[in-house]
Amino acid sequence: MQIALTGTPGTGKTTISRLLPYRIVGINDLVNEGLCLGMDPERGCLEADMNGIDDHLGELDTADILILDSHFSHFFAKKAIVLRLNPQELRKRLESRGYNEKKIRENLEAEALDIVLAEAVENCYQVDEIDTTGKTPEQVAGLIIRVIKGEIRFTPGQVDWLEDFLDSGWILE
Ligand code: ADP
Ligand code: MG
Repeated sequence: MQIALTGTPGTGKTTISRLLPYRIVGINDLVNEGLCLGMDPERGCLEADMNGIDDHLGELDTADILILDSHFSHFFAKKAIVLRLNPQELRKRLESRGYNEKKIRENLEAEALDIVLAEAVENCYQVDEIDTTGKTPEQVAGLIIRVIKGEIRFTPGQVDWLEDFLDSGWILE
């Protein structure tokens, strides 16, 4: 079974996936190692080879649980767990990553507008969303394990950053 661990960049996917007792496939590593179509001139980063990644994942043994780590891993799995983070917290993380202001805003807007969640709901038959705000990576990992075991569900619609976003204007000038 392949399960997408997805969410806007900076929400904690890679950190938390390392705490899970499952095999992890880093989709971004696959892209960097050659499953790409070259440089995307507009975005200044590698363009993922979606068909190539799909083929590669199809060849992996699926008897075990495989966690697909990437902000677009929900395009490759039937089940997805979407990590959410309050955009004010997300801004701090993206700043400390050294992202430029344009890239920070793009990602904060995507988080505020539930873009990854909406894509996951459209592409997957089972989606859970976990609000990681104020939780440690260990706490979030514990929740993910319980979701995978079928002990709890976090059906989409748990978070709504938009009101906060409109009130405070911390994304748009
Ligand atoms: P992603 O893989 O989703 O882009 P990362 O796992 O790289 O995100 O996390 C980005 C940063 O946030 C890292 O510096 C990490 O240590 C920190 N971080 C991740 N999860 C948490 C958390 N639950 N609480 C506090 N900091 C976190
Ligand atoms: Mg990551």
